[in-house]
Amino acid sequence: MAEKKTALVTGGSRGIGRAICEQLAAEGLHVLINYRSNHAEAELTLSAIREQGGSAELLPFDCADQQSIESAIEKWTTEHPGTFIEVLVNNAGIRKDNVMVMMSNDEWNDVLNTNLNGWFWVTRAASRGMIGKRRGRIVNIVSLSGIKGLPGQTNYSASKAGVIGGTKALAQELGRRNITVNAVAPGFIKTDMTEDIDEGQYKQVIPMARFGTPEEVAHAVSFLVSEKASYITGTVIQVNGGLYT
Ligand code: NDP
Repeated sequence: MAEKKTALVTGGSRGIGRAICEQLAAEGLHVLINYRSNHAEAELTLSAIREQGGSAELLPFDCADQQSIESAIEKWTTEHPGTFIEVLVNNAGIRKDNVMVMMSNDEWNDVLNTNLNGWFWVTRAASRGMIGKRRGRIVNIVSLSGIKGLPGQTNYSASKAGVIGGTKALAQELGRRNITVNAVAPGFIKTDMTEDIDEGQYKQVIPMARFGTPEEVAHAVSFLVSEKASYITGTVIQVNGGLYT
């Protein structure tokens, strides 16, 4: 039997990341579930995968901390000779909204460090194995906010727009190595991150008149990771119920 491919999903303890972990495990990948601090929720993702007969393990590190990322990935790689991270889903992200004139340096730096610098540090460390083996898939979870810009989110919009630019550039760097790099941009998805947003109010402006589910985002990721998407690179797939037109 062929060895399972390994996928690293950052922010896999909750929300969209959990749905991606469960989807990829159901498709036969071995999943490294990353999270920052919510160990109990990460354990729930792990047990849900195992109950379905899938294979996964926890790999905690802080995506806003270069040292934490590099030591965790290096340790895992050393302990697993002969295998490599073939699929990377950069999903971990935070928002700390404020109008720019009131925005603190911490609000700016925390969001940029997690969403954009973290993307750079994780991708640089995790893509080394793919480059050596000349195959891989990288999928970055961005946002409608990074395409359209949303008021009160200059930090978040800038971080996600930065990842979209990085996705397009990296796709061109890694194409010859048979590694695809794409992004998925969700609109409003029902998770802890959107708990404070009133779905009723947004129903008026979303053509499909509802928030999306984490599973609906996970399906787009699953397609980009699959063999079916072997000639798609440098793109952004929007999963937003028609909100951005
Ligand atoms: P949640 O707030 O529900 O979950 C966030 C996840 O990211 C958790 O697993 C959390 O881990 C992890 N995380 C946060 N910071 C770090 C860090 N520094 N290091 C490691 N892990 C971290 O978010 P969503 O599921 O809603 O969002 C997932 C992604 O989708 C994000 O990138 C977000 O920007 C994007 N997105 C979400 C939308 C939505 O409507 N929900 C819309 C558009 C984009 P822990 O449990 O340990 O805290």
